[in-house]
Amino acid sequence: MDTETGQYNENVQDFKIVSPKKAAKNQPELPKTPIKTANKYQELTNLADNNPQVPAINLKLDADYNLTLQEIHSMFPETENKLINGFICIQPNSDENRQKIIDLLRKNNKEFVLSEAREDRPLKIVIKWLPINQDKEELKDILESKGFKIIRINQLKNYRLKTLYPYFLVDIAKKENHLNIYNVKTIKHLKVKVETYRKKNRATICFKCSDFHHSAKNCECKPRCIKCAGMHETRDCSIKNKIENPICINCQGVGHLASWRGCPKFPKTNNTTSNLTYAQKLKNGIPQNNATKTINPTPNQPPSINNNLSSDIREFVNAIKIIKETLNEFPNLIEISKKLANSNDKQEKLNLLLQIIT
Ligand SMILES: [Zn+2]
Ligand SMILES: [Zn+2]
Ligand SMILES: [Zn+2]
Repeated sequence: MDTETGQYNENVQDFKIVSPKKAAKNQPELPKTPIKTANKYQELTNLADNNPQVPAINLKLDADYNLTLQEIHSMFPETENKLINGFICIQPNSDENRQKIIDLLRKNNKEFVLSEAREDRPLKIVIKWLPINQDKEELKDILESKGFKIIRINQLKNYRLKTLYPYFLVDIAKKENHLNIYNVKTIKHLKVKVETYRKKNRATICFKCSDFHHSAKNCECKPRCIKCAGMHETRDCSIKNKIENPICINCQGVGHLASWRGCPKFPKTNNTTSNLTYAQKLKNGIPQNNATKTINPTPNQPPSINNNLSSDIREFVNAIKIIKETLNEFPNLIEISKKLANSNDKQEKLNLLLQIIT
């Protein structure tokens, strides 16, 4: 290292002569080695780059599932299988093998659901503060003109009141720029708010096969109608009207459809039913005589997934709660029904009935 000298020469009196013992020694210059810095998570990033998780294939559990797995194992011994929610999650070790397994399952007429790679799942955001009658196609064009790849736009609804919210749920394909959607501040000169969509904590039901935990776009199962159990999608059902006392295709209970979250076979997530208003519960009907029907597991619902017994009890308690809430809503119901039983006069009965609903 060079020592600076010039500027001190004029003020030599500021320095003292010291004994050679105390004097600083010239250090021989050591060769510079670059300091090693380590990122202890480096290993993880390498793993992610070299071996990205190949999306799984979920085979529906059927009677001869083991033959299918044997065949897959003999061709692709690296594949791992795990039973989850009535489906066998087949984890291939490469995209190429994944495609071969899909082809094999299709050839054998097997029912399965494809998992999506994380990067293939769209970014879901909600745009707020637009007019309630904003045209979705126009909104799509506007966003695409800003460089986003829009997969679909849905206006959020209040299903109970059958009204629309001025909120637009937008699915955006993950390209390099997709996160820029959060920088969109105005649309058609109106200030807007872009928020991440928070999915409600409840199981999804597939519109194609009416099974749970997946959506129709990844579903290669046979269609199954929740209205008539026919081999078609529910929206293609010839029954267009509301069925008075439907029979549930999952639990065989009377008075509700399989899409009702109170159905004993409807998968339980945290707070699934407690978030419902009693009106929502009532709207879908109350299951009858099905509280003890689902103790024996069926092949589609292995006992390891759900504790069916405790969920049945929960369901039963729920049903009682619903009835109690309803009675609270019509406090004079019991009293009036007693009077009704004692009355022989038609007009009086009618008046009593009117009292209940007013
Ligand atoms: Zn499905
Ligand atoms: Zn049908
Ligand atoms: Zn049911």
